[in-house]
Amino acid sequence: MAETERSIFSRIIAGEIPADVVYDSERLIAFRDIAPQAPVHLLIVPKTEQYRDVVELAAGDPGLLAELVATAKKLADEHSDGDFRLIFNTGEGAGQTVFHVHAHILSANDRGSTLEEGRLAQL
Ligand code: 5GP
Repeated sequence: MAETERSIFSRIIAGEIPADVVYDSERLIAFRDIAPQAPVHLLIVPKTEQYRDVVELAAGDPGLLAELVATAKKLADEHSDGDFRLIFNTGEGAGQTVFHVHAHILSANDRGSTLEEGRLAQL
């Protein structure tokens, strides 16, 4: 694939762009979002760039989607109190900017603190 067509996340996976990687397995990588919107804000990304969004991933490889969700829980246990919000922006109108499927793991990191429900979405 031509350099210009590769996603920013493929370049992170290839080690061409630095990232604060917190998890790395055969099929998934997770790293801290460069512009965090919660005390814990991780991105979890399938290494394949075959799927642009979660709808394509669910149809094409549901097992990989299930692995992503289980890994999100493991990361929320490690980096916070185990409670987390899992967000897949899907489509430009929903705020998706990188068309290489990924989930945002958002969590509070102090035990006893919580994410505000009212901040789930803002126009
Ligand atoms: P989306 O808006 O597509 O759901 O999410 C893309 C996310 O990727 C954004 O939250 C943005 O801050 C993050 N992001 C974009 N470029 C980089 C980068 O080079 N490094 C890291 N760590 N995060 C990035």
